[in-house]
Amino acid sequence: MNAKKKILITGGAGFIGSHLAEALLAQGCRVSVIDDLSTGTRDNIAHLMENPDFHFTRDTIMDEMVMRKLVDSCDEIYHLAAAVGVKYILEKPLQSIHTNVQGTEIVLDLASKGNKKVLVASTSEVYGKNPSSVFPENADSILGSTKTSRWSYACAKALDEFLALAYCRKTGLAAVIVRFFNTVGPRQTGRYGMVIPRFISQALHNLPITVYGDGKQTRSFTYVGDVVKGIIDLMATREAVGDVCNIGNPQGITIEDLAKKIKEMTKSSSELVYVPYSQAYGEGFEDMRYRVPDVTKIHALTGYAPKVSLDEILERTIESMKDKRSEAG
Ligand code: UDP
Repeated sequence: MNAKKKILITGGAGFIGSHLAEALLAQGCRVSVIDDLSTGTRDNIAHLMENPDFHFTRDTIMDEMVMRKLVDSCDEIYHLAAAVGVKYILEKPLQSIHTNVQGTEIVLDLASKGNKKVLVASTSEVYGKNPSSVFPENADSILGSTKTSRWSYACAKALDEFLALAYCRKTGLAAVIVRFFNTVGPRQTGRYGMVIPRFISQALHNLPITVYGDGKQTRSFTYVGDVVKGIIDLMATREAVGDVCNIGNPQGITIEDLAKKIKEMTKSSSELVYVPYSQAYGEGFEDMRYRVPDVTKIHALTGYAPKVSLDEILERTIESMKDKRSEAG
């Protein structure tokens, strides 16, 4: 009988990490999760706790001793632990930079020494305010002033990518870098700014739906299940090592149209209100007008194609948020 593959997921109690843990357990892996529960929650993994193949460590990835043990006892690492969410980054700039830079360096160094394959989660934020309408992986990173905190996230994640690529070249580390575009679905919270759970919660409570700016900015949303399948497939693809891949959905929608769609689907009486960025995020905030991925590379490598449409994503997320509300009484 083959021994079960042992996977370490940093940030595994987070939104994407918990879905990934579930999928890997379903494939017969043993899954170890480390999470400091800064943005992740016990709720996200509560249903996995009884599984003998699941193990949870509540700690920070900044603790090298703890990380060494976990890395030593795994075969592969999905490094998802990071400070995420525009609101969170703006509120906790120092902590975010530390986690996103030093945390990743610890993971990469241990993975390299232990000869463990690692998938590094990066972000479409690294394209910054590049005015293109679509982003292949070799598009330029165009970041704004260091006085604008938003860019510290993009800059920290770009540094993670440089580090991972340098480890690959210099130590032979097998690293795969993935740039997530807006990933959505059940368990995502609006607490850190993410637009879909925020709009759904506002609509379900018949509160004003807060469209920032003129609402003409475009985003594309990918169902978390499609993303999880995509990254597991990518991790199994030898040609992806030492490379960077976008993962997302090439179908875009304006934020204003998204708000209208959510209002309609929830049959809400909410009004759409247009909130200036300065009011939402403070003076000097810069947003991207257009952000849609080019997924040609990941499609060629793994056959990746997102299956769940935006309407289905919204239906599933609305249902899960309604269930949560009724559980809370
Ligand atoms: N947004 C909005 N209202 C909100 C929260 C977000 O209009 O209550 C906008 C935000 O300004 C951005 C888009 O929705 O243009 C997506 O925001 P999110 O924070 O989900 O992801 P981002 O693409 O900014 O990383």
